[in-house]
Order: sequence, then structure tokens, then C-alpha cells
Amino acid sequence: MTVERLRQAGVDIVRICYPDLIGVERGKDVFLDSLPEHGLTFCQAVYYTSPQADVVPVPGGLDRGLPDIVVRPDLATLAVLPWQDGVAHCLADAYWPDGRPFPEDPRQVLRAAIARLGELGLTAVAGPELEYFLINPDGTRYDGGPGNVYVVGNKGDQGGHLIATMRALKWLGVTMGCHEFSPGQFEINLTHSEALDAADRAFRLKSAVKELARRDGLNATFMARPFNDEGGSGFHVHLSCLDAEGRNVFDDPASPYGLSRTARHAIGGVIAHAPALAALLNPTINSYKRFGPDTLAPWLNDWGLDNRSAMIRIPPERGDAARLEVRLGDASANPYLGIAALVAALYLGIRDKAEPPEPLEGYGYDPERSPTLPMTLPAALDAFEADAELAEVLGKEFTAAFLSYKRDEVERFSRHVTDWELREYAYHL
Ligand code: GLU
Ligand code: MG
Ligand code: MG
Repeated sequence: MTVERLRQAGVDIVRICYPDLIGVERGKDVFLDSLPEHGLTFCQAVYYTSPQADVVPVPGGLDRGLPDIVVRPDLATLAVLPWQDGVAHCLADAYWPDGRPFPEDPRQVLRAAIARLGELGLTAVAGPELEYFLINPDGTRYDGGPGNVYVVGNKGDQGGHLIATMRALKWLGVTMGCHEFSPGQFEINLTHSEALDAADRAFRLKSAVKELARRDGLNATFMARPFNDEGGSGFHVHLSCLDAEGRNVFDDPASPYGLSRTARHAIGGVIAHAPALAALLNPTINSYKRFGPDTLAPWLNDWGLDNRSAMIRIPPERGDAARLEVRLGDASANPYLGIAALVAALYLGIRDKAEPPEPLEGYGYDPERSPTLPMTLPAALDAFEADAELAEVLGKEFTAAFLSYKRDEVERFSRHVTDWELREYAYHL
């Protein structure tokens, strides 16, 4: 959409936004007639500002005098916001003031991983699924009825939020939505597309779902496991690779399970790097409360044919739709970094001809059969730090900044007195 077309469509404000390190949408509202040619400046430290507004001690912080980065709108992403008159939304990329790309920008990190897969002549395609809970302003669960998985209409969504949200977000490639296992929990599926576009749409979806919920006096949370008595919210990603002719290279009717050797190596890559991938796909302390036996979230590092208890499910379709569904990620992941990590794992697996173990059959939560995933954020961060190959693909500066931010988060948490500690200790010891 061009600037002229926007004007004709009655747009006078452009909301220019970028993802910070943890996937929070940051931006500025700019009048269309002041759209800056060279970009907008932001304080670099905002990349590393926790939602509680603590600037954490990483490059670009107080020790460097809070310097600028320049955020340049990617005009190919301009879109009129359907729920706010006269406002268009535009994604942006971050650069150093001297014009070099900012290596910690999640869009740049994803581009770097895509480029490496490109060296093998392959294009990554991703199809994101996101689960979330609606919550009341006091933090209790939205009560749309006693709904369970796949109930429709008034059984689980008496406010009609799901359909209203899907209609407002059709432009993001929403194909369908449904009620999830827990009351107040929903899932929205996005169509598949080239990995950067898919990450853009997943990022926009998360922000927009939150924005729309607020308009109804609710909040939407993509936290991995917001309630003790309910399951978590996943960020499943369907992945395939296309060759230069646009053919899905995961399909091969002549090979075992109808999966090509490239698909097998891709599975092998995800399994080989899974402990490190967890740091990016399960990036919060809370993320590890979603994992466990009998959760439909993974617990073990394994794969299976149409088996939802495995970390990687191979859906039954083949041909153009031959793909991996990686079920590791939770909804709190920064979609750019999660997809970048997966694309990097596909690249490494295919490049190194990684071989996966035999596929899981039957019940998928038997720790005798497969190794467990990291069960805490510090363990996943250590695994990421130890995975030099993954760090090399995603960028060493990015990896160092991410580890530094996340270790600070672990440290802040370890010093914080929680409700559980008060209940457990305050009156009894
Ligand atoms: N909520 C589950 C998860 O955390 C997934 C349930 C499903 O298969 O849709 O991954
Ligand atoms: Mg689901
Ligand atoms: Mg799924």
C-alpha cells in the first residue's frame, strides 16, 4: 500500500512499530505528512527494557549513555488498521545511526537464519498457531462459559470475542480459530507463508489480539502457563522448505513415511538443537511450567507421526502440505526469534545431515525412551550458550545480548518474594 493510497483511504497517522528483544511491540504514532525518510530514533536500551520498565544491564544501557538506534519503516508492511479510523500500521527494522543493520533486531536475526537456509537453495515456510487466555482486569480468567476444547459459540465464548477478533484480523492471514482445552482459552491459526512474513503476521496477531481484548475491557495473555489449575498456551509452528521451483522438498512418496531425506535431516536438526531452541521458544521462567507429561505440550525431545504427545508432530498430509509441526514453543515466545531459531535448526540439520531417532509410537511421555527437554529457563540458557553452531547462525552479538538479558531476568526473579513462598512459609515456620 503506497502513501498516496493511504491518504486516499483517509489515513492521517502511521503507527511505526518494531519488536524488541522479547517481542514487545514498541513504536511511535507519526502523522502521515511527517513520515520520516531516514527513520525514527529510539533509545537502544528500549530493546532491553523489561515490561516492568527496568532497563537491564546489556549493551546500549546506562553504561553507554543510552544511545540511539534508528528504526526505518518497512513500507511493504503498511496496512490500514481495521479497528481504528485513520490509522495505518507499519513494521520497521532497526539500524545503528551509521546505517549498519542492528544485529539484535529480531527481524534481522530471522533474516540472517533465512539467508543461511537460502545458501542451501531452500526457502523456509512457516505456519504459526497461537493459543491465549482472555483474562479479566483483576487477573481472573474470562468467564465465557464452562467451555472445553472445540466447543463453539455460547458454550465457551458468550461475549463472542473469538469471532470478532478473527474478523478484525483476517488481513493477517487468519484461517480459523477455536476454543481450547481450558475455559477462557482460545487458539487462532494463521496461514503458512515465507518465514519472515509468517513471523510478521504472528507478531502483529499477538499485539492485535491484546489491543482488541482491551477494547472490550479484557486482557489477552500469551503467557505460557498463566493459571495453576489449567494447561498452557502453545506457539506451534508448521514448517516446510521449498526449492527454487517452489516445490515442497519434504515430500517423497518413495521414502519411509513419505518424507524425504531433507525432511529427515530437518527433524534431526530440530532434535539435535532442541535444548538450545527452548531458550528462544520458551523464553520465560514461566515457560517451563507448561511442559510436563499428559499436557499436549512436550516434555521429551522426540518426534512422531501424527502424534500430539511428541515434540515434533508430522501431520498426516503429504505432497505440498508435507511438513513438521514443532510443538515446543509457547505463546510467550518472540515470534521472530522462535521462528529464527527453528529456521536455523532446519538449516543446521540439513547441512549436517542430522539423523533423528526412530519416531515415537504411542504414548509420548515415557522418559525411558527419549531425553527430557530443559526443565528450567537457566538450563535452557546454558544449553543455548553451549550450542555454538546455533549462536553462529543467529549472530554472536544477538546471542550475547539475549543471554545477558535473560540471565538478568532469572536473577531478578530469584530475588523476588513470591505468593507461593508466603503461603508456604510465612505462617508455618
Ligand atoms: N495447549 C497445548 C500446548 O500448550 C496444545 C494443545 C493442542 O494440541 O492444541 O501446546
Ligand atoms: Mg491448540
Ligand atoms: Mg497445533
